[in-house]
Amino acid sequence: MDRGINELFEGLTITYGNRKYILPPSSFAEAEIGLMSQAEVQRGLEEVLDEVMLDHAIEAPAIRRAIQRGRGKVTMNDVVGRVKAHHEKRGKLITHKAVKQEKLTGGGVLFYEIERRGDSRKERNRDVKLEINGAGKIIQYSCPCETHDTNFAKGNYDAISELQQNGSASTNSSSGLQQMRDVSEFPTFVTHVACYHIAVALLHSSKTNSLYRSHFKFTKVMVFEALFKDVFGRVKEATIDDYLIRQGALTEETVRRVSEGELTLEVIKHMKNIDSRSQEIIGGIKRAREKDGYIFSGFATGLRGTPYQTASVVLTKQDGRSVHILYDSRLGLELPFMMLNVPFFQWISMGRTLPNSELTGNPLRETSQYLRRFDERTQQEVVSIITKPDSHLITRAETQLYERAIREQRVQPPQLAT
Ligand SMILES: [Zn+2]
Repeated sequence: MDRGINELFEGLTITYGNRKYILPPSSFAEAEIGLMSQAEVQRGLEEVLDEVMLDHAIEAPAIRRAIQRGRGKVTMNDVVGRVKAHHEKRGKLITHKAVKQEKLTGGGVLFYEIERRGDSRKERNRDVKLEINGAGKIIQYSCPCETHDTNFAKGNYDAISELQQNGSASTNSSSGLQQMRDVSEFPTFVTHVACYHIAVALLHSSKTNSLYRSHFKFTKVMVFEALFKDVFGRVKEATIDDYLIRQGALTEETVRRVSEGELTLEVIKHMKNIDSRSQEIIGGIKRAREKDGYIFSGFATGLRGTPYQTASVVLTKQDGRSVHILYDSRLGLELPFMMLNVPFFQWISMGRTLPNSELTGNPLRETSQYLRRFDERTQQEVVSIITKPDSHLITRAETQLYERAIREQRVQPPQLAT
């Protein structure tokens, strides 16, 4: 069985205490489609199909597969048909205007009525509320839909979703959630996902009143590839988010704000593929680090673009150092590893010289030596070292398992996910 942290969404994250607002690029790419007229979608589709067919270097696997299946052509009808299959037999994502109503009140509070993509007889349109300050910063947002309203609980912790199913926790009571701890004793964040409806409202604001400046910039190919991945490929949002981030969907300003520590790039996880022993070790690593002043700070993607790409548990320290707990079968061992990261500026200020080698390949082959690495979560150059957990946290037999796995370097690179 595949072990590891199963990511549901990845996005720009704004953290206020134990509240997190996560903006996945997949929501915003879909919102771009939602804000286009049908004629614009039609024109965009034609342009993108031409572009992808002419230039083989463009990374758009879902579009290419659809072209192949359609023996060289994909029509607007094909796309609308797929969208319908996805949204309660409705093609409204393409055929209807996404913004029904908007109202801007004083103090940067905006109210929007956003057209649902599905059957309007089943549920009402979504009333979205945004609060943005004078500097364009998101203070809060809300939407009554399921993605927004329940994912912060279901997405982050199994323990909470179980409680929810039993009716003991209300999704509306954030104070209740704040008290909870998940099974590995991580305090829980209340994570608010920017769903499609919130993304439409934010994007509309960025295009009309400039109260909000979008964190993302997309090419037409990126927008349509995201749509094709979703409705033709039916992949999970985190896969679309990863594609968009790799393709450069973050604006330069966003990258700068991440590297300055104002934002982070994090994932919402679902830790369903974890065994109880590994969970115990992860809990032990966390407690040991807390004694050194680290705090649990959520989850993030690491080793992006390599066959070992994985989501990890993140512990951070005020001074910029972090520990990522790597736990994924694709690393070749179904037990957690630790990766300590020190930002370059801090490493140098400690009077140390930067290592020459970079972490590029098999992380297991490169344990116990200092390496240069780019940290996605903070968009900073860091010096990293990967090691097994502290010896008092693992048994002798486990120590041997770690040592053997490292010695034999027996990992076969798994296939890159597309
Ligand atoms: Zn929503």
